[in-house]
Amino acid sequence: MDDCIIIGGGPAGLTAAIYLARYHLSIRLFDSGDSRAAMIPRTHNHAGYPGGVEGPELLRLMHEQAKSFGVSRENRVVTAIEPDGENFVVRTANHDFAARTVLLATGVINLRPKTLDDALHDDALLRGLLRYCPVCDGYEVTDKRVGVIGTSDHGMKEALFLRAYTADVTLIAPDSEHDLDAACLAKLDDAGIVRVDGPCGEYRIEEERFVVETATGPLSFDSVYPALGSTIRSDLAIAAGAETAEDGSLKVDSHMRTSVPGLFAAGDVVLGLDQISNAMGQAGVAATTIRNLLNERTPIRR
Ligand SMILES: Cc1cc2nc3c(=O)[nH]c(=O)nc-3n(C[C@H](O)[C@H](O)[C@H](O)COP(=O)(O)OP(=O)(O)OC[C@H]3O[C@@H](n4cnc5c(N)ncnc54)[C@H](O)[C@@H]3O)c2cc1C
Repeated sequence: MDDCIIIGGGPAGLTAAIYLARYHLSIRLFDSGDSRAAMIPRTHNHAGYPGGVEGPELLRLMHEQAKSFGVSRENRVVTAIEPDGENFVVRTANHDFAARTVLLATGVINLRPKTLDDALHDDALLRGLLRYCPVCDGYEVTDKRVGVIGTSDHGMKEALFLRAYTADVTLIAPDSEHDLDAACLAKLDDAGIVRVDGPCGEYRIEEERFVVETATGPLSFDSVYPALGSTIRSDLAIAAGAETAEDGSLKVDSHMRTSVPGLFAAGDVVLGLDQISNAMGQAGVAATTIRNLLNERTPIRR
């Protein structure tokens, strides 16, 4: 029986692994290998890296650090977490594992524009022509021509957030006409944000700009932000009985405890700011609470 099984090897899971290993606990880290951090061409807002750091390099360094304390990421997809008394059974395709506690750090998946093929998507992302996180990289589009693919309240909020970086923001409806009520329209008008109806059909890169076909013809941008929402990977915890917020993210207390005793969560899967720094901070809190809980049950002694 392990002291803790961490599910997810992104910034949250890897931070927790480093903390828990340094508390002299026996842990395992299961990861299916698609951290959002691996998609970051270069982050410039993560403190401690003047000049920025590439997402995959940050993950590599964190993994190396975890390894130095004896934890290695295991490439496994967890299919179920089942409470078993005060412990848990963690199920994967080929094997079941027992653990005293579980930390869920499974993150979210951004929804992509429907007709954008993967190769073009990845190329545009690498070149900064496609972006997903105004909090992360709005600074990089200062005074640039920006498109936001989205509508309704969510699309409006993203467009307004970006308006603080550039006056040239166009909100493009993904599917057909915009779905914006009078209050949304008034806010967009006040900010001078142009609206264009969809559907967004074809995408291409032309002279270092991202071109989007819309109902009114092609539009080209320095960067385009899809604001189409995300899938929150909280289903394992929900099936184990954990409570969620309205959007499906996990509800936790200030110690990162879910509503299921012994089941913790950290990072994007939890309601809050989807950022590396937040994921790391939450993981540190979760790991320390896990340590204290286990120490109460059986004092950790060398
Ligand atoms: C393009 C882009 C740019 C970004 N730029 C920045 C930036 O500049 N600064 C910043 O702070 N943030 C940035 N972010 C956000 C940042 O990547 C996330 O906030 C961060 O990765 C969250 O960490 P996490 O550990 O919670 O989740 P993730 O990094 O997404 O990791 C979750 C892990 O869980 C694993 N997993 C999921 N389900 C299972 C399962 N059932 N079994 C096993 N493993 C599972 C996945 O494979 C994945 O590896 C950016 C995001 C994107 C997409």
